[in-house]
Amino acid sequence: MVLTTQLVDYLNKELQVATIKDYCPNGLQIEGCADIRHLVTGVTASQQLIDAAIEAGADALLVHHGYFWKGESEPLVGMKKRRIASLLAHDINLLAYHLPIDMHHQWGNNAQLGALFELSNVVPLEAVSPAGIVYQGETSTTLGELSALIEQKLDRPLVVCEGKADKPVNKVAWCTGGGQGFIEQAAMAGCDVFITGEVSEQTIHIAREMGIAFIAAGHHATERYGVKAVGEHLAGEFGLKVTFIDIDNPA
Ligand SMILES: [Zn+2]
Repeated sequence: MVLTTQLVDYLNKELQVATIKDYCPNGLQIEGCADIRHLVTGVTASQQLIDAAIEAGADALLVHHGYFWKGESEPLVGMKKRRIASLLAHDINLLAYHLPIDMHHQWGNNAQLGALFELSNVVPLEAVSPAGIVYQGETSTTLGELSALIEQKLDRPLVVCEGKADKPVNKVAWCTGGGQGFIEQAAMAGCDVFITGEVSEQTIHIAREMGIAFIAAGHHATERYGVKAVGEHLAGEFGLKVTFIDIDNPA
């Protein structure tokens, strides 16, 4: 058991919330009960995940995609009202960490993906700031083999662009989620391939014209690992019951 305030203070410090500028508040977004025994983790605080957390008897829900995004409609109506009402009715704390969970050097989505893809010398790509938004790593493989490995690890079909299957791949850059806008920086840094979750129409043209291979592996699929790693750490650190619940999302 841990006090909610204690857990939030710990996470805010470990995930360096105070130093990271973001598009949403990071930390405790909705206050629930005062102490936590069972923590449910998941990618997005959708109604389906909330319902699963209620069913599991969670005291807190820890997610990568929470609420209150810059530019979203503010009134608590419709879908937004239903989600928040469900959490409040069951006294469930909502903890959300967006960029801090992408960027963390050990538990972060990017760092975790580097390990999952069996890359070596995994470090933030220097050309991009703040450090940790985009990562780079090394391997000695081909585009075909790397694509097959990613498809198998993430268990979903990929969008793969430009470059033949036998194209040698040594330097890889990646950004989990919707990171397709970083493809030019990856190309300029001399990477052979850039991997992210989502693809835009223009991404394909940039890949072709800048001579970098590109892989879109799913926003959800590439962002399952950070929040899961944080949860596993918290289970050990505070002796909490922690359950990762994956609500599948093909996007
Ligand atoms: Zn995301």
